[in-house]
Amino acid sequence: MGKSSKDKRDLYYRKAKEEGWRARSAFKLLQLDSQFHLLQGLNRVVDLCAAPGSWSQVLSQRVQNEDAKIVAVDLQPMSPIDGVVTLQADITHPKTLSRILDIFGGEPADFVCSDGAPDVTGLHDLDEYIQAQLILSALELATALLRPGGSFVAKIFRGRDIDLMYSQLGLLFEKVTCAKPRSSRGTSLEAFIVCQGYTPRPGWKPQLGKPLQVGDTIESQGQDLEERMVAPFIACGDLSAYDSDATYSNKKAKTSLDPVQSPTAPPYKKAVDMRRKGLLRK
Ligand code: SAM
Repeated sequence: MGKSSKDKRDLYYRKAKEEGWRARSAFKLLQLDSQFHLLQGLNRVVDLCAAPGSWSQVLSQRVQNEDAKIVAVDLQPMSPIDGVVTLQADITHPKTLSRILDIFGGEPADFVCSDGAPDVTGLHDLDEYIQAQLILSALELATALLRPGGSFVAKIFRGRDIDLMYSQLGLLFEKVTCAKPRSSRGTSLEAFIVCQGYTPRPGWKPQLGKPLQVGDTIESQGQDLEERMVAPFIACGDLSAYDSDATYSNKKAKTSLDPVQSPTAPPYKKAVDMRRKGLLRK
């Protein structure tokens, strides 16, 4: 689907460009915040899987404190954003934690979020596995970075065994909610876990080298985890706002808008460079 057809079909995609957001995902964080008031009084914030940076844009606008620090981490390079330190790193790599802590001078974070999504291969089981690993890595980083009482938000896909993840999260946070912002397509399994009130388990140390396994780690350190939990589900954002699955007539969409931030390292970059040098025929 080309740029202009997306402009016509997806109002959030177009609205993001009109309002200067680098991606339509900005509305998801804004709608989560309007429901849960997550972005008040923050000093140290970590945005995992942050490129192209619309969540970091929201964070830099909302976190106004002069001493505040926002760290954005992604595999991809990110164009700079005022007030945000960007780190090109893999969230599954053990050294990423110490790189973030160095930026915070060893102080804990108030808020960690992750909107991580792997490149889809089309092999459903593999894609699901990599997505699960990303969520676990984000959670491991969150448990190692957050101060007691801090919050964690992450994108999930509501698949098999998600109730087991809610149970495990329920042992680490006072309140766990599954939230679906209005701007997240109703037809997609995407949702966000909103975990508030981090309560580190006494004696439990996150082990970054040894990833959390379903049914592992927390029970193996003295917790019984027999019951699966159903987290409350909340649809958030103004329900009279645009429905991301609906079609609206939009006269303005006749003009296609340029992206707010062109991709820094697009997969087609090599081909464009080769064509420019005359090494590739049209
Ligand atoms: N929240 C972002 C925004 O508002 O602009 C959009 C995030 S995008 C949906 C998902 C991102 O996850 C991609 O930029 C991708 O590079 C990143 N990602 C995937 N695997 C990663 C990993 N292992 N470490 C760091 N970033 C990763």
